[in-house]
Amino acid sequence: MGQYNDYVTLCIGFGCNNRCIHCMLDGIKDIQKPIGMDTFRKVVDAMPRQRGLILSGGEVTIMDNLTDYVSYAKKRGIERIRIQTNARALASPKICKEIVESGVNEFFVSVYGHDAHLHDAHTATPGSFEETIKGIKNIIECKATLITNTVITSKNTPYLTDITKLLLRWTDLIEFLSYFPMAKEDTKDLIPRYTKVAATLSACLDIAPKSIVRYFPECLLGNHRNRLDNSLPRTIINSSYWERYKENEFGLCDMKERCSSKTCTGFPRAYINKYGFEKDLKPIP
Ligand code: SF4
Repeated sequence: MGQYNDYVTLCIGFGCNNRCIHCMLDGIKDIQKPIGMDTFRKVVDAMPRQRGLILSGGEVTIMDNLTDYVSYAKKRGIERIRIQTNARALASPKICKEIVESGVNEFFVSVYGHDAHLHDAHTATPGSFEETIKGIKNIIECKATLITNTVITSKNTPYLTDITKLLLRWTDLIEFLSYFPMAKEDTKDLIPRYTKVAATLSACLDIAPKSIVRYFPECLLGNHRNRLDNSLPRTIINSSYWERYKENEFGLCDMKERCSSKTCTGFPRAYINKYGFEKDLKPIP
């Protein structure tokens, strides 16, 4: 069982103050509708208190009423309340403190580079790195749990170790997620060759023993196989998202018949269309 099986994700707002080149909602953001307070209350009312709640979108920290949602969940006794965020708004100590006081105790913060040049190249928003790092420091100051998320792209693959070393200053709860476009082609040329990522990723997993990897071929993780976590939270989002998600055709691998992995998501269609099937896979016996 992976850690996300224990969470419910509710998508409450789709605005954003970044313009990430790898955004999973690219092209469908405008047609997404937030679930709204009534549905939110119904879901939260039915949730066991021990189950974690993830508030996502979009960038939820730019919503005027984020703390209304969080306070409601806190009042209902939900023990773990997480937001997925770029943390830019949290550069303000006051905003960060208000959000923590309303009930958020886990922050899942996206960091794509070890410096402003690389991170801002992913967010397409100059100044975003500086604000995100300030936000991270404020989260730590508020004594909330910090988990980071780094999407692995062709741009940041050579710097994954530098990114990991930077993040380790504040947390060892580091997650790496393979980039995949919600399409059959990698039109932005952001999918890295996984066989090239594997060695760098392995070095990162060595120096950050609690870090995990998502959506990466299991056999390419070698002796770090146990760090693959492809579990998914129950997610409540517009159905158009799932329609687009299907375009990925996850699970492609020509070795599947010979492999006993139960969790590997193989390769997305866009990867196969770009690089073809990999030759050096070692199916799990
Ligand atoms: S052989 Fe294919 S299915 Fe098996 S672990 Fe490797 S990529 Fe995944």
